[in-house]
Amino acid sequence: MHDPAQTTHLIHHPYTPPGGFEAPQPGVFKASTVYFPTVADMRSREWKNKSAYTYGLHGTPTTYVLEERLCSLEGGAKCLLVPSGLAAIATTSLALLRSGDEVLIPDNAYGPNKALAEGELQHWGIGHAYYDPMNPQDLRKRITLDTRLVWLEAPGSVTMEFPDLAALIRICHERGVLCALDNTWGAGLAFKPFDLLGNGDLGVDISVHALTKYPSGGGDVFMGSIITRDQALHLKLKLCHMRLGLGVGANDVESVLRSLPSMGLRYTAQDEAGRALARWWQQQPQCVQLLHPAFEDAPGHAHWLEVCGAHERKPLAAGLFSVVVDDRYTQAQIDAFCDDLKLFRIGYSWGGPVSLVVPYDLKQMRSHPQSHVKPGHVLRFSLGLEATQDLIEDLQRSLHQHLPK
Ligand SMILES: *Cc1c(COP(=O)(O)O)cnc(C)c1O
Repeated sequence: MHDPAQTTHLIHHPYTPPGGFEAPQPGVFKASTVYFPTVADMRSREWKNKSAYTYGLHGTPTTYVLEERLCSLEGGAKCLLVPSGLAAIATTSLALLRSGDEVLIPDNAYGPNKALAEGELQHWGIGHAYYDPMNPQDLRKRITLDTRLVWLEAPGSVTMEFPDLAALIRICHERGVLCALDNTWGAGLAFKPFDLLGNGDLGVDISVHALTKYPSGGGDVFMGSIITRDQALHLKLKLCHMRLGLGVGANDVESVLRSLPSMGLRYTAQDEAGRALARWWQQQPQCVQLLHPAFEDAPGHAHWLEVCGAHERKPLAAGLFSVVVDDRYTQAQIDAFCDDLKLFRIGYSWGGPVSLVVPYDLKQMRSHPQSHVKPGHVLRFSLGLEATQDLIEDLQRSLHQHLPK
């Protein structure tokens, strides 16, 4: 189960409705312009510490409510909202890196994080290197005097390896380098990024989250968050955020606020369904490897257990896993298997109501050899909210048709 108290807190949040009006959802305030009663008042208002409203881009009562709820979800103190999960990654890197600096990114990171480093940061004189997230000593070796930021992701994109987050974070702290976690998979539910082991001793500096996925839950909203506990670090990020002009629409914020109270239930249901499907795949002879951190043979399973089991409840995982299908099938057969699925749709952005499948070609995605992944065709599945038995029947039918034993 997810932590039920966390869900309770998302619902019973100290939001103050306008006088005489109380309802389940907070009000939606929309503004570019904010009025000042006098010029003197205009001059005296300070937007950076949220003590006053000055301009829609700097925050509204609606964005403040979502920011506060996300802080309580992830255990952070300060939050920034940006127009997508990728914008959260980009803003973090842009705020903290200067020409001559270097950023380290796990080789199995969300692909566009690497594309940002290669396609943009590099042209501004910001170097990057990819480290092996499953080998903390590789990270240690790659940190140089120029390293200013280390990205973390748990588990890795598509191949789902769960790294030794505690070891990676400790190395960053020892070397005095900031670490930022892409916490989209954990969603603030599976583990606590600012209190990783549940003893208050260890946490990341920054947690970014693609709200597009589980918090939105609808497959229809783009948004991202950047959460910190450190006021000075938050201010640095906030100034960059302001200078880049990144705002979010009130209606999108409303959608996320409306979905947040059900996120714990959805996450748990999608986790259970994901594990049921993963167990089913394990029994199919076409499947040569299952990549799901909650399964014993998966790379990094023990690290998943350590971090996601740190809070004395059944360890959670997102409803997301990959399988490696036997090499003896052709790409055309794999594609036909995907095309012929009726309930699983072909698409990228998980966390919504519809189950999805994507075939990946690892050779195009990784810089380091992937010896822990068996040769074959990698298929990534994400769970929606359909009945598990219907999903299994869908897979069974297409598998039988296109990938005969
Ligand atoms: C989807 C995703 C993002 C990016 O989110 P967008 O809102 O689509 O830009 C970043 N990181 C991870 C791990 C994701 O799954």
